[in-house]
Amino acid sequence: MTRMLLMGPPGSGKGTQATRIADKLGIVPISTGDIFRHNVKSMTPLGVEAKRYIDNGDFVPDEVTNRMVADRIAQADAEHGFLLDGYPRTKGQVEALDAMLAEAGQSLSAVVELEVPDEEIVERLLKRAEIEGRADDTQEVIEHRLDLYHRETESVIQEYVERGIVARVDGTGQIDDVTERLLQAVYSVRSATGSLPVIQPGAES
Ligand code: ADP
Repeated sequence: MTRMLLMGPPGSGKGTQATRIADKLGIVPISTGDIFRHNVKSMTPLGVEAKRYIDNGDFVPDEVTNRMVADRIAQADAEHGFLLDGYPRTKGQVEALDAMLAEAGQSLSAVVELEVPDEEIVERLLKRAEIEGRADDTQEVIEHRLDLYHRETESVIQEYVERGIVARVDGTGQIDDVTERLLQAVYSVRSATGSLPVIQPGAES
């Protein structure tokens, strides 16, 4: 059973890696950014509320984000493990997640942080802007998101470092190599913390 967080700055490749890692481990990937974008596209009340924050590169308020994550991880497919991508990003979200897990008698197996230098991040995101046209991939908004990451989310990672469940992984280079490094990191944290996996046939290779 793996319940893990994939952390890293915007543009570090979390989304790409999250689905690959989750597939390998037989768990569901849950991306708060993706859930918000789907809601914005479908113009749900959640999407309408979230849009103004997302477009400016600001965090959606904790109260809204926490409720959304609580609903999502309570769904049946997350019962056998999940990988959270893009959550928690604030101290308030860490507390909320702790409470959700405690209530369900669960705990985190590992937190993996993808490291990519800022210069490469800006380059990658500007390139993505040309291809995908995400409204929040302009130079100004990218810099704001990166700044928020350094100001708020790095101390979130620090909190998990103190709990002894973080592994840092080099996020540069070939996508396959990064996936391999991430998997190794998850395995090593999991075994170090004693939450050994229940291996399902075919789920891990
Ligand atoms: P990135 O990591 O590249 O900034 P995401 O796709 O993960 O992009 O998130 C896009 C946007 O969705 C964020 O800039 C923010 O507005 C919102 N968002 C995603 N996750 C969270 C979160 N945990 N808390 C608050 N806002 C979030």
